[in-house]
Amino acid sequence: MANAERTLVLIKPDALQRELAGEVLSRFEKKGLKIVALKLTNLDDSTLQEHYGHLADKPFFADLKSFMMQTPVIAMILEGLGAIDEVRKIVGATNPREADAGTIRADLSMNVPSNMVHASDSPENAEIEMKRFFKDDEVFTYVKLTDKYHFGEGV
Ligand code: UDP
Ligand code: MG
Repeated sequence: MANAERTLVLIKPDALQRELAGEVLSRFEKKGLKIVALKLTNLDDSTLQEHYGHLADKPFFADLKSFMMQTPVIAMILEGLGAIDEVRKIVGATNPREADAGTIRADLSMNVPSNMVHASDSPENAEIEMKRFFKDDEVFTYVKLTDKYHFGEGV
């Protein structure tokens, strides 16, 4: 939809290990976010070096990388009105014990790095991260019967 934003989400290895990937995806779906790209993918060291480059000098960086390589992750692009901020709101604060109740991280996790989900934090990073994980022909545009409720003027 012309007025919508797109954002990159990763469902992290703890969610797959704990069989909560469906629960996480369901929360985004229920909000009305449209899945426009989706795949299971393994992260390698160089991808993580780029993706978490802002944390490269942190003492937990090596643990974070090995955690993210425990299983494949589910990578997806979600589309919706204000999707970047809305998804961050649904995901909650980085530290699950500081996240608001009702968010994925508060409701389903207790610790870092195993906080269930990654989500782009700005329009600039969303653009970079969508390109990091998806080729153009892996990203779809389609109409859903519910688009008028989620994207329209209000029906
Ligand atoms: N992380 C960690 N320890 C910390 C801070 C972050 O292990 O003290 C991990 C955690 O998995 C987090 C990821 O590094 O989600 C990326 O950190 P960032 O500050 O970008 O938080 P996010 O954008 O994921 O909320
Ligand atoms: Mg971040």
